[in-house]
Amino acid sequence: MTPITITLLLAAAALAGATAAWLIVRSKLMRKKTSNIVDLAAARRRKMREASLNPIRTDVPKRKAGAEIRGFTPKNGDARLQSCTRCQKKSDTVGFYVDEYGKLVGVCNECRKSAKNRDLMPL
Ligand SMILES: [Zn+2]
Repeated sequence: MTPITITLLLAAAALAGATAAWLIVRSKLMRKKTSNIVDLAAARRRKMREASLNPIRTDVPKRKAGAEIRGFTPKNGDARLQSCTRCQKKSDTVGFYVDEYGKLVGVCNECRKSAKNRDLMPL
């Protein structure tokens, strides 16, 4: 082995060591830089995995205390028709009054006149 070869080998080893050290320092710096950044895709994947492992039970109905919520009834439908208290005819426009006994009466357009004549209180 010539001294030149030994020198070259030492230089190569030193260069390799320096390169390795530089790479390690660089990777550490990069990790420090990215530590504040959350990988949203990875977080989403993790969340999906957790959700698939523990699926939320949606079949259990939640009972809420309070008022009962009725189903929607369309404005012009058969369910909307109400019968008149006086003539028992089905009508979609029923006016509500309170009679002299405090009872609620719903009257159709034809019976509304008689309700007004009886001086019932409209609601
Ligand atoms: Zn009527």
